[in-house]
Amino acid sequence: MEETLKILVVDDDEVDRMAVRRALAKAGVSMELFEVSNANDAVSALRNTVYDCVFLDYRLPDDDGLNLIQKLRSSEIKVPLVVLTAQGDEEIAVALMKAGATDYLSKSRVSSATLAQILRNAIRVHRAEMQAALANQQLRESHEQLIRKNQELERQRQQIQLQNLKLLEASRLKSQFLATMSHELRTPMNAIIGFSQILLRPKFAQLTHQQTDMVERILNNGKHLLMLLNEVLDFSKLEAGRLELKSELFDLTKIINTIVAEMRSLAEAKKLSLLVQINLENPLLFNDPVRMRQILVNLLSNAIKFTESGSIWIEVKEISGNRVAIAVRDTGIGIAPKDFKHIFEAFRQVDQSITRKYPGTGLGLAIIDSLVGMMGGKIFLESQLGAGSMFKIEIPRQVSPQNAAEINAFHWDGDGIVCSAQNPHQSSKASIGHPHLKH
Ligand code: ADP
Repeated sequence: MEETLKILVVDDDEVDRMAVRRALAKAGVSMELFEVSNANDAVSALRNTVYDCVFLDYRLPDDDGLNLIQKLRSSEIKVPLVVLTAQGDEEIAVALMKAGATDYLSKSRVSSATLAQILRNAIRVHRAEMQAALANQQLRESHEQLIRKNQELERQRQQIQLQNLKLLEASRLKSQFLATMSHELRTPMNAIIGFSQILLRPKFAQLTHQQTDMVERILNNGKHLLMLLNEVLDFSKLEAGRLELKSELFDLTKIINTIVAEMRSLAEAKKLSLLVQINLENPLLFNDPVRMRQILVNLLSNAIKFTESGSIWIEVKEISGNRVAIAVRDTGIGIAPKDFKHIFEAFRQVDQSITRKYPGTGLGLAIIDSLVGMMGGKIFLESQLGAGSMFKIEIPRQVSPQNAAEINAFHWDGDGIVCSAQNPHQSSKASIGHPHLKH
């Protein structure tokens, strides 16, 4: 043992103390040895100094070894304790060990070899115990830390859950507000439109040229407002999953020709040519004609709105899988690839500024996207900035409830084309989990 050990010998018998001292010295133990002769002095010595080992006589004048050990252990003094027992005390060895003695030795067996051996063992055992206690303490601490972290995580989880609930509630209230407001505003708007139309009937009112012009403006603005309100109402219905397709058999060619006839004047006002090419062997579709019309009017009015010169084409044809493809192509301002995904999100426009050139709610494509999804169709977009865009929808000829379950998910394929991919995980309600409807 290389280090110098601090050793305390507690014994009232001077001769016995000397025997221990000599035996340890003979064994070559490098040590500082201290001696006390009673239990009281032992306690105060151990309170003031840290010893590497204590040799303790079992029979002391003021106390016995068992009591002393219990006192020391309960006062948290941690030191290897070797009890030196007299002849006949061996039977109490078990009690001593239980009370916290590290080892015991009969005084009759004290020799340099046994003492040195016992000293080494006691110190080794004690150090191992200390290490184990330290590791235990560290384990306890990290366990407590884990518990605290878990509690903190749980608290955060509950907070997030609460915030989620609040957000959901706020979103529900917002949708409800949008639905109620747009619904309520439609009634007076219909009255404004209706009465303006009556006023414009030549036999009903004798209006001056200027008055007619003003009423026409009221009528046109009223119609525009009604269209915006309808968009908001549709969107809130889609969001709430309350919009259902009312399928029936209709002639797609007729619908397209009617829309083109209605919108031709808008194109002509901007000097745009509007070309229609319908290649259908069978023009009949089983779908919701009102929603189909809404999709086409939206695509066509966007094409006209975002094109300053050139042409707009509508191309319709049958494709494999008993489906129909309708493409609306323009030579307008085009869309940058980075905006491809976003323009299908509700309220998103390429130009989000207040001073933007082109008016609109930013809901059109979000609604189209949801409707096409409900129909089990796909939307494709090809566009080049400054050159033009092509929005193409592919829908089944016959819309069935299964179709409605297949809702679009768009991805950028790196070639200027965004195409929808069917996502089997989507619900049949257009609003739920839909990639483009931000709630
Ligand atoms: P809105 O037309 O009311 O702004 P939409 O949802 O219909 O909303 O369209 C979203 C955005 O997509 C538009 O604001 C525009 O930036 C872009 N966009 C749509 N169609 C075209 C098109 N044919 N050419 C260029 N940009 C378009």
